[in-house]
Amino acid sequence: MNKRKTRVAVPGEKLGVEEEFIPGEGVYVEGGGLYSSTLGALVIDANSRKVGVSPYTKVAVPEIGDIIEGVVVGPMREDSTVVEILRIRGKRSLKGVFTGILHVSQAARSYVDTIFDVVGLNDWVIAKVVTDWPPYQLTTADEELGVIYATCPKCGEELILKRGRLFCARDKTFERRKISIHYLLKEGSYVSKDNKRG
Ligand SMILES: [Zn+2]
Repeated sequence: MNKRKTRVAVPGEKLGVEEEFIPGEGVYVEGGGLYSSTLGALVIDANSRKVGVSPYTKVAVPEIGDIIEGVVVGPMREDSTVVEILRIRGKRSLKGVFTGILHVSQAARSYVDTIFDVVGLNDWVIAKVVTDWPPYQLTTADEELGVIYATCPKCGEELILKRGRLFCARDKTFERRKISIHYLLKEGSYVSKDNKRG
């Protein structure tokens, strides 16, 4: 078994000398000394005599298979739209702004005519990343994927899930979406803003 011990290392901190250790990740050599290049956990492997620093601030980027939560920012084209990625499940917060492309061919298992049958502007969606280089391609084809929150494009009222479709209680109209099974506002468990006020 490898004996490993960890503590915090700060940038520029001398960790040892070349005669003692082999530099690993996050370590640079200067004048025979080994120094940390980052703030992180110091990892010394006693067997291989390797010293490394595992950085605390790794940049989280979308990767294939990641489940993301995002908002549809548009523009809305017939065949695709752009989603701003706000969060990747199970990963630390994102550094910077990432966007993904949702193409109509990746939107559902069955045939969908246009992106307007899938999402609307400002909808919140859960999607899966299918390419890990920008622009990231997204899919909403699984049942847990798709829209989780949407508002009416006409009046701004929150849409509720009613008999498998999204319904505006004010306009009495249904809106087309590829809905996730995790859609947040379900009929019966939802109190409208108007009721809350009154
Ligand atoms: Zn409405």
